[in-house]
Amino acid sequence: MAKLLDGVAVREQIKAELRSRIDRLRALRRAPGLAVVLAGEDPASAIYVRNKVKTCEELGIYSEKITPPETITTGALLEIVEGLNRREEIDGILVQMPLPRHVDSKRVLDAILPAKDVDGFHPVNVGNLSIGNPGPRACTPAGVIELLKRYEVPMAGQEAVVVGRSDIVGKPMAMMLLHQNATVTICHSKTRDLPGVCRRADILVAAIGRAAMIDESYIKPGAAVIDVGMNRVTDAGEVTRIWRGEARKLAQLEEKGSVLVGDVNPIAMAELASAYTPVPGGVGPLTIAMLMVNTVTLAEQHLGITASA
Ligand code: NDP
Repeated sequence: MAKLLDGVAVREQIKAELRSRIDRLRALRRAPGLAVVLAGEDPASAIYVRNKVKTCEELGIYSEKITPPETITTGALLEIVEGLNRREEIDGILVQMPLPRHVDSKRVLDAILPAKDVDGFHPVNVGNLSIGNPGPRACTPAGVIELLKRYEVPMAGQEAVVVGRSDIVGKPMAMMLLHQNATVTICHSKTRDLPGVCRRADILVAAIGRAAMIDESYIKPGAAVIDVGMNRVTDAGEVTRIWRGEARKLAQLEEKGSVLVGDVNPIAMAELASAYTPVPGGVGPLTIAMLMVNTVTLAEQHLGITASA
């Protein structure tokens, strides 16, 4: 029977652990502070930001939402970031992606002070991850590592295959698995014989963005499978194919107009894996939890207060 890696349960554990650190900071100096910049009106981004702000409120982290219009220029966004860099009570700055098309996203992200780069995307922090220096880590892959550790999935010496090489998931994921002493292979759209490479994996991480692409031909029986993907399927034929005609999923499609699925076929994963993350409820919940961890850790560093002191 495959073990379900429950991201909601781990998120709640992480939040419970953070409360005492936050209470301590508030008692000694002040609440940790997170600023979120949401430019424009992208509905998905608005939901992500709302959830981030809500989690801050729940935990007692000060949060500030800055919502410039879609028409904002790169220069004006740089000014906002520089203003936040200077503010003592702001420990973390998050610029929600994607930015409006005309904005130079790279310039904006690079303008965030590395010491306030709560997403871990700044080149200095990418370098810190690469050489194993402390620093904020990209939240989604950091959440995956946390999940694997808490469920005692062995990583050292294991064959890990990461499908996807994006700067926010695939590459940092591979680097973090390497730091856990896994033997890591990174795959992408040009990889030859992807199913064959994936079948070598004791730990298979899918971060692709293609609904249920990873089927039984990619999974070694007994592997731990981590599904980072979040895709919406709207076609009844596709839903039938993925869930092998499961009536519950077709009813969900009828009711909501779409069904959420990861990059891994959920039926194949449950049948073959020794441990796996469900979608929803696996990796997703951990991303915000790790954002909170990064915010609190940066606040402790800025205030010179260690977690255990
Ligand atoms: P990107 O689109 O930036 O990267 C996708 C990667 O997948 C690329 O490296 C691409 O290869 C590779 N890829 C695409 N098609 C194939 C294919 N047919 N075979 C092999 N490799 C392929 O996506 P992200 O990394 O940003 O996100 C990946 C998924 O994770 C998405 O579904 C996203 O929604 C989800 N996500 C979930 C989060 C969460 O909190 N749960 C957080 C962030 C993302 P190439 O480089 O060659 O083009």
